[in-house]
Amino acid sequence: MKDKALALDQSDELAAFRSQFHFPQMDGKDCIYLCGNSLGLQPKMTEEFVQEELRNWQEKGVKGHFTGEKPWVSYHINSKKSLAKLIGCLEDEVVAMNNLTTNLHLAPSSFYRPSGNRNKILIERGAFPSDFYAVHSAIVLSGNDPADCLIELEPKDGTDYLPTEEVLAKIEELGEQLELVMFPGIQYYTGQFFNIRKITEAAHSVGANAGFDLAHTTGNIPLTLHEDGVDFAVWCSYKYLNSGPGGTGGFFVHSDNARRTDIPKQSGWWGHKAEGRFKMDNEINPIPTADGWQLSNINILSHAAHLASLEVFDRADIHRLRKKSILLTGFLEELISTSEILQEHIKMITPRNPEERGAQLSLFLTKLGKPVFERIVEEGVILDWREPNVIRVAPVPLYNSFMDVYEFVQILENAIKELS
Ligand SMILES: *Cc1c(COP(=O)(O)O)cnc(C)c1O
Repeated sequence: MKDKALALDQSDELAAFRSQFHFPQMDGKDCIYLCGNSLGLQPKMTEEFVQEELRNWQEKGVKGHFTGEKPWVSYHINSKKSLAKLIGCLEDEVVAMNNLTTNLHLAPSSFYRPSGNRNKILIERGAFPSDFYAVHSAIVLSGNDPADCLIELEPKDGTDYLPTEEVLAKIEELGEQLELVMFPGIQYYTGQFFNIRKITEAAHSVGANAGFDLAHTTGNIPLTLHEDGVDFAVWCSYKYLNSGPGGTGGFFVHSDNARRTDIPKQSGWWGHKAEGRFKMDNEINPIPTADGWQLSNINILSHAAHLASLEVFDRADIHRLRKKSILLTGFLEELISTSEILQEHIKMITPRNPEERGAQLSLFLTKLGKPVFERIVEEGVILDWREPNVIRVAPVPLYNSFMDVYEFVQILENAIKELS
């Protein structure tokens, strides 16, 4: 298997990208970093992009808003082209802004507008806390009762896998009571990738809106949000998008929605037309694109880091990355499923079908639990732990190699042997 890993690295046309990232060190060596699903590594270009804006601020002060190559007043336009390629949409449909949870609150104020019996929101059971809290708040703020209106769908068979058919059946069952379906692209805990197009079509067929949290999907799997007819989507940029801790969030609104004047929104001055913005005349003149949802002037330093990372994605190309990702994660799965000792100790909760997952595999440790995790961390592996007993392993095609995966599995096997 080591030979196979070496051969796969040899024939990897994206292998050179690894050297464009900073790796955390342990004992003078690169750690085996398999945690890009939680915090992506820093591209070496990032420092220069951020320095440039620090310099602009030093040299220009407030004039930086309107002068230079990338004036701050319209800095958000610089990320649109790259983001549109990643999520499959028009440039007008996407804007980098705020943080994810803020965007999770903004979206329902436009796309959850209950009336009469149409007042329910469908999410998956075990949703990420912010996502749960956001839709819970939206229901409370609308004067409805979450006990009636918040529907959490769980798999019928009690496992972690939620078949698309069950999601579609639930949407149909709720029918005219359903106002919004908000689902993950990739579920953060199980790693399951949901069928965005089918869920959207089903929601629309009963007159509901469909929105997606793509925190674990953007930069991981190529998407086609415009064609799929998705109403809105939100994400963060610090996971697979490598744009730094707490980095700028992202927001997609379908052009069919952005054009409509009857969809209300929480608005701010940055969502109003730039021509009139500094007249301070409080005219209502929202931008008829995703930009109309902007609240504040742009967080330039975080957006600068975002631009550096997006440039790496442009060079690598998300479709090529996905191709490598399927091989890389498939290799990890192969190593686990052909190891007797790992089969005894690990239950994989991520779908086996590569079309229904991204980079991440979630491994449930059936016997030894946390001490195994602690041991592999001591050996220089960085990955994350989720209660009760899950390690999430995300080999990232931009900067992980097949040897990283091979070495990780060796370390995991050794840790289990030593501890059992
Ligand atoms: C990472 C993540 C968040 C985090 O939200 P922040 O506002 O960036 O802190 C929220 N929801 C999901 C599904 C996530 O994966």
